[in-house]
Amino acid sequence: MYISELFDQKKAVISFEIFPPKQTSSIVTIYETIDALAPLRPDYISVTYGAGGSTSKTTLEIASIIKNKYRINALAHLTCFNSSREDIDKMLTDLEKENIANVLALRGDRPRTWKAGEEKESDFKYAADLAKFISSKHKFCLGGACYPEGHPECSDLDRDVENLKRKEEAGVDFLITQLFFDNEKYYRFKEKADKSGIKIPIQAGIMPITNRKQVERMIELSNATIPHKLVRILDKFEHNQQAIRDAGIAYATEQIIELLANEIRGIHIYTMNKPQIAKDLVRNLDSILYALNN
Ligand code: FAD
Repeated sequence: MYISELFDQKKAVISFEIFPPKQTSSIVTIYETIDALAPLRPDYISVTYGAGGSTSKTTLEIASIIKNKYRINALAHLTCFNSSREDIDKMLTDLEKENIANVLALRGDRPRTWKAGEEKESDFKYAADLAKFISSKHKFCLGGACYPEGHPECSDLDRDVENLKRKEEAGVDFLITQLFFDNEKYYRFKEKADKSGIKIPIQAGIMPITNRKQVERMIELSNATIPHKLVRILDKFEHNQQAIRDAGIAYATEQIIELLANEIRGIHIYTMNKPQIAKDLVRNLDSILYALNN
């Protein structure tokens, strides 16, 4: 099923993101994760794509299991950095063979560990170029990434939103945000997106925090700011693993309830492959989601 159809049918689309296990871990670990997530009945599960195409086979394999074994809609992430048109065409054909109807079209980044000259010439500069290529040749429902606090390479949020509009024009059907901890940042960004004429649904990416190190790494990667109230929670409870985990789930729950009360079109939960966190969070939202969709 196309994810765009879910947005047509539901008040709010709820999804999970998982990533392929590290090469040193067994692929079986991810099946245990999906096994635990499936009973939560997400609208879809997305699978990330390793930097520079490093996980293309496993991303395909995991997306196929989600779709064909668990009968849950799958969204396969796909990056175009370091890729030729032929590489992308091959991946898309493989996804079609596995009956996967949804692709998150991304540019990706140059892996930090790569040495100069390690990458090959890419046929695509931006994610919008990839989306245009896919929609001209294939029939996928396309997602795209967006950044409520601006993409790290673009210092001006207005310009970043202008660039985002190009994704919609290139055939992207819905957007998923980078994680954020301050809903006001999302509302400000959404207002700019509305003003620029972006009409496609924007799902909010939410990550429940489970420890301070994780938060610090995420800020480094994503540019997300941490509101004072979250800093105070981290300062007060970081010494106790259970307390910080519970506080993180409570914080994410509050964030999501407020977003849902403000007519957001969906929530994408970054599970970090920790299904118990997703379980606890979804349990907190049970009656909220029921009330919303009934
Ligand atoms: P783009 O949309 O191409 O934007 C990149 C930069 O170029 C931005 O600063 C933008 O403003 C600018 N830009 C765009 N178009 C133009 C233009 N025409 N002219 C000038 N400037 C322009 N990475 C992975 O490797 N694997 C994953 O699975 C993955 N999943 C992700 C999922 C989500 C929901 C998000 C938010 C990010 C994900 N990423 C993933 C990270 C992503 O690849 C990086 O953030 C990357 O730096 C940008 O990708 P993009 O698709 O947003 O790029």
